[in-house]
Amino acid sequence: MIIAVDGPTASGKGTIARALAAHYGLAYLDTGLLYRAVGRQVALAGGDPDNVADARAAVDFAEELLEDTILRTEEVGGLASRVSVHPEVRAGLLDRQRAFAAQEGGAVLDGRDIGTVIAPDADVKLYITASVQARARRRWLEMVDKALDGEEEIPLAEIEKDIAARDARDIGRTDAPLRAAPDALVIDTTSFDRDQAFEVVLEAVEASLAERKG
Ligand code: C5P
Repeated sequence: MIIAVDGPTASGKGTIARALAAHYGLAYLDTGLLYRAVGRQVALAGGDPDNVADARAAVDFAEELLEDTILRTEEVGGLASRVSVHPEVRAGLLDRQRAFAAQEGGAVLDGRDIGTVIAPDADVKLYITASVQARARRRWLEMVDKALDGEEEIPLAEIEKDIAARDARDIGRTDAPLRAAPDALVIDTTSFDRDQAFEVVLEAVEASLAERKG
């Protein structure tokens, strides 16, 4: 079974995808982390994330980079969003994601283009979204909570601006733009807490699986 989970930044898709993987005993891949590693690698190499050649070269990042908690910061998220615009970078990460999705036993992948490009034949496709305000607030609370790697606390209004800019970049790019696949179950988590969101998602997934079987 392959479950594709897409949606904008801080929509809760990562938490939901992880919980689905645990629930169904499937492997899990956070594909945003791959783009974050590319963004971080460009910065480490002193390159420019907007430059295609610099970004393409960074696709061959060292595997250990994926373990670095700095990848979770807003700053690296911004770099990831810039390198992910280049079709060469997306193509460079394609096989790895497809191979993960095709593994025996099944998988859950979360990202922006899982249901549309990486696994268009996924058994279940979810598109998890929430208002910009709700997402900014969640990101801010998470940051205050974890004080990521000495990351300086960013004012809520600034996070809101960053998230809106990232949405615009993800939605507006020509190659694999962020959008719900036509056959995706769209779930808006604005008014849900974590547990409620998972409950609603699980119900939708079960209904969709039952329908496929039936
Ligand atoms: O999901 P996350 O915030 O970690 O992703 C960071 C950035 O990587 C996103 O803003 C997006 O531009 C890019 N990304 C992508 N395709 C994916 C996953 C992430 O373009 N499948």
